[in-house]
Amino acid sequence: MAKAIIIGSGIAGLATAIRLSCKGYDVEVFEANPYVGGKLSSFNLGSYKFNFGPQLLTMPHYIDELFELCGELPGDKFIYKKKEISCKYFWDDGIKLTAYSNKKKFFNEIEEVLKISTKDLKKYLQKSKRKYELTKKIFLENSLHKLKNFFNKETIIGLLNLNYLEINKTLADINEKQIQEPHLVQLYNRFATYNGSNPYQTPGIMSMIQHLENHYGTFVAKNGMGNISESLKELCIKHSVKIHLNSKVEKIEVKDKKAQGIMVKNKFHPSDLVISNMDIYPTYRYLLKKHKQPTKILEQERSSSAVIFYWGIKKKFPELDLHNIFFSNDYKQEFENIFEKFTVGEDLTVYVNITSKDNPTDAPDGCENWYVMVNTPFNNGQDWKVISNRIRENVIKKLNKLLKVRLEDLIEEEMTITPSEIEQKTMSYLGALYGTSSNSKISAFLRHPNFSRNISNLYFCGGSVHPGGGIPLCLMSAKIVSELIPKA
Ligand SMILES: Cc1cc2nc3c(=O)[nH]c(=O)nc-3n(C[C@H](O)[C@H](O)[C@H](O)COP(=O)(O)OP(=O)(O)OC[C@H]3O[C@@H](n4cnc5c(N)ncnc54)[C@H](O)[C@@H]3O)c2cc1C
Repeated sequence: MAKAIIIGSGIAGLATAIRLSCKGYDVEVFEANPYVGGKLSSFNLGSYKFNFGPQLLTMPHYIDELFELCGELPGDKFIYKKKEISCKYFWDDGIKLTAYSNKKKFFNEIEEVLKISTKDLKKYLQKSKRKYELTKKIFLENSLHKLKNFFNKETIIGLLNLNYLEINKTLADINEKQIQEPHLVQLYNRFATYNGSNPYQTPGIMSMIQHLENHYGTFVAKNGMGNISESLKELCIKHSVKIHLNSKVEKIEVKDKKAQGIMVKNKFHPSDLVISNMDIYPTYRYLLKKHKQPTKILEQERSSSAVIFYWGIKKKFPELDLHNIFFSNDYKQEFENIFEKFTVGEDLTVYVNITSKDNPTDAPDGCENWYVMVNTPFNNGQDWKVISNRIRENVIKKLNKLLKVRLEDLIEEEMTITPSEIEQKTMSYLGALYGTSSNSKISAFLRHPNFSRNISNLYFCGGSVHPGGGIPLCLMSAKIVSELIPKA
């Protein structure tokens, strides 16, 4: 039986393992951590349960697909429900806006709260949908690095509509022109952060990101985001995939320009295929040290990172939901700080996620589990202890004012994660949340392909390679890799 070894058990590694096992391969996964999932994992702090990284679940049908591929009912293990409220938005000027997943309800809310017509917004959303439809086959669902994928009807139509995609304008510019109302402009600029980019640099094509949320909706996983990885791990084991935890891969063995297997704890594990799910940068720098390095790709600008406070709060806040955003007053300055000055200012946008709203057992009675996140630059050697202390102070000041409380008296459990800790825990280069940024208009072409051009039988999946970061795209990378690999 042909063998495939996967390095890393992030969401893309687990999905690739399942797909290759369904293709008849004998699959083994080697994971450095004592748990699976990488960024997509959960942990407990006292009586509170927290998701480590991702909180927003979109396009869960890509996860269902993995269960279906194995002839299983997804709903038995991976349970999720659609959210009626996608997000609650708060501004310092007192405006509060609830983004309902029901479009009519959301438009009514905008008209009532912001006192504007939604005619222009509807046009904008229609355009975003078209952008997604024009580009999904080229940029998301297939390898961008195989010539044959350019010779089909969808790609030709996409290329003929380049102007419509607005790649020569920034997301912020098109939002300002097409939406105009400042609160809504900021709200739609925010979608650049879904792949760790800067709305004032990323091209206008990125307005398609919000289409995924607006059209497909947002979801909440019943047993937490970490359960996605755990349920995929179970699916792997059921389908004879062997998972080795605490097994850091030290080298990819290559002979005659062909991957031969891997080295773990000085032991050689031979394999017909090697698929790396770890960040592309350390894959080359540490596991393929002596081989030709794709330097231009490896040196691409990284996405933003984050400082996260996990707080056990001994109070309930009925005015909040699962996802809540408290916007800064100067969004442009905030991104200039992150991407140009590599620092974090005083006036911050704060994301508060509370899973106990939907899964009450995630916090004790009368309490809530707050995951409080602020966007930051990637790890550039900054003093994160000093920065995170300052962020904590500013976040508390801001939330106290808007929620009329004294949060410092309500925090009974606490843990903080900074970009350098994200880097250590997930081995993501510079602690970037989403691999490389999408600030350049050609960034899609500057991500590493899902295969090696110089070493045969070597493949790559996950957030740092094509088509990019975020759970849905990582799952697409697994699909692309498995389609590039012939049946065993
Ligand atoms: C704070 C935060 C918030 C986020 N929010 C969202 C969100 O709301 N929605 C969303 O869709 N996405 C979000 N993301 C992004 C999303 O989490 C990632 O894009 C995705 O989980 C990356 O998956 P991956 O398959 O690339 O692997 P990773 O999760 O990066 O895992 C890679 C795995 O490889 C292992 N590994 C590394 N080196 C080795 C080695 N040498 N040997 C063996 N194993 C190794 C690591 O231990 C790790 O388990 C967020 C990320 C973070 C960190």
